[in-house]
Amino acid sequence: MAHGHSTDEYLETIYFLAFPIGEYRPTGSGNPTLSARVAEMLGVSRASAGEMLKRLEADGFVERGEHKEAILTPTGRVRAEQVVRKHRIIECWLTGFLGYTAGEAHIHADDLGDSFSDDMIERMNEKLGRPERCPHGWPVETAFEQAENQELAPLAQLAPGERATIVRLAEHDGELLHWFYDNGLAPGTEIEVRAVEPGGREVTVAADGTERAVGAKAAAGLYVRRAA
Ligand SMILES: [Zn+2]
Repeated sequence: MAHGHSTDEYLETIYFLAFPIGEYRPTGSGNPTLSARVAEMLGVSRASAGEMLKRLEADGFVERGEHKEAILTPTGRVRAEQVVRKHRIIECWLTGFLGYTAGEAHIHADDLGDSFSDDMIERMNEKLGRPERCPHGWPVETAFEQAENQELAPLAQLAPGERATIVRLAEHDGELLHWFYDNGLAPGTEIEVRAVEPGGREVTVAADGTERAVGAKAAAGLYVRRAA
């Protein structure tokens, strides 16, 4: 991405790393450091991500854990939760009111995050009828999101023969987000895993009677609810 990322975008990214996984696991040997993962998600260099993490630490939003991993402080967590909630409400407004597609909404919402006051966001939320989820399936209320995390799994964890419903799509990668929609893999779609390539490089799923190959990156970014 050409433009620099704001504090809020970093907090949003750290939030996404912290909560879909459920917890921050200390990075063991061979695992990428947090700054590397943040850099990868934002498409910036490891050095710029490291610098921004230092700033977030100085501002009291992030602290270093036992193994030097970055974790959100209570203040950082509150701020990050406000940022993601705001982002999701703006996305609902972009798709529900301005007619943008779900694929387009995420990047526009990132650009608009700082444009609206908290009061404007609450008014927007009311006008939209308090939507439960963003267009990509992420709950607007973060407490609900975190509770629901336990019920979901990335597609990559499913075995052949398992059936599931797509609930959420990873949205930090614009190209991948468009790929999900172009391939009919939107929230609410029912899928069945037909095959899993050894090593998890690719998963073949059936959706709407059509088989599709889903690469490892996409399979890690599709969050599903297993059929009962
Ligand atoms: Zn979204």
